[in-house]
Amino acid sequence: MRSPAHRCRDIERQAGYLQPDQCVPPPPRGTADGMWFIQDGCGIVCGVITWLLVFYAEFVVLFVMLVPSKSLVYSIINGVLFNALAFLALASHFRAMLTDPGAVPKGNATKEFIESLQLKPGQVVYKCPKCCSIKPDRAHHCSVCKRCIRKMDHHCPWVNNCVGEENQKYFVLFTMYIALISLHCLVMVVFHFLYCFEEDWTKCSTFSPPATVILLILLCFEGLLFLIFTSVMFGTQIHSICTDETGIEQLKREERRWAKKTKWMNMKAVFGHPFSIAWLSPFATPDHGKSDPYLYVV
Ligand SMILES: [Zn+2]
Ligand SMILES: [Zn+2]
Repeated sequence: MRSPAHRCRDIERQAGYLQPDQCVPPPPRGTADGMWFIQDGCGIVCGVITWLLVFYAEFVVLFVMLVPSKSLVYSIINGVLFNALAFLALASHFRAMLTDPGAVPKGNATKEFIESLQLKPGQVVYKCPKCCSIKPDRAHHCSVCKRCIRKMDHHCPWVNNCVGEENQKYFVLFTMYIALISLHCLVMVVFHFLYCFEEDWTKCSTFSPPATVILLILLCFEGLLFLIFTSVMFGTQIHSICTDETGIEQLKREERRWAKKTKWMNMKAVFGHPFSIAWLSPFATPDHGKSDPYLYVV
């Protein structure tokens, strides 16, 4: 028996009932498909804020804590570690934002395309009435991206993009690296406060003592907030990958129509085959294997 959520999915039609006149022909390849970037004001502002927050942390870590530090070894080790993690966080953000999350070709619900699928009795296709595309299983329409996205998890304004089948790896890495730099910042702030209490406050920073305290408290607040937010997000994402259930499917309590796989197979499906250090690299494009079919058997 079907769940209410399943019945409420977009109108189920057979080939004969589709109205191809309502479909706008898809844009020619190489124009709109050339680069993926969502033109959403709120998302662009949130994306820029994310970069500015990382640059603020970078500024305080370098010029308030590491440059005035007496120990060169301490400064070099922490400087290299912090910059490497910050670079990976921004690279992950960049890839999560500019990677097509798995958009279904727009306007492909035409009569010719449906006929080319050669539907057999009992087979149906789902059509999205908003973007006029044929929806593969587990795809959902995003009102911000104005497209149907394969295995859409949610639309994240912080990366100004949907999190879906093709860019989930970069989003998970982004949350992980932001959580790590936040933790690193907090540890360094604690050490710096201890160092300043022992030494003369005027010598522990190139800035005046009040400015130093304000900059460090703001960094502490930012680090704590983002450590909590991104580590919860990271945990939620890993859980949904292991259980192979997207955020939307959990929310809508959709009936499970796909085969159950092991946690390890689900992780490989997102991060790529085989397991390697490339899982941690935002520059390695994962191999997702075969995509979901268009057809459904009822
Ligand atoms: Zn759609
Ligand atoms: Zn979206």
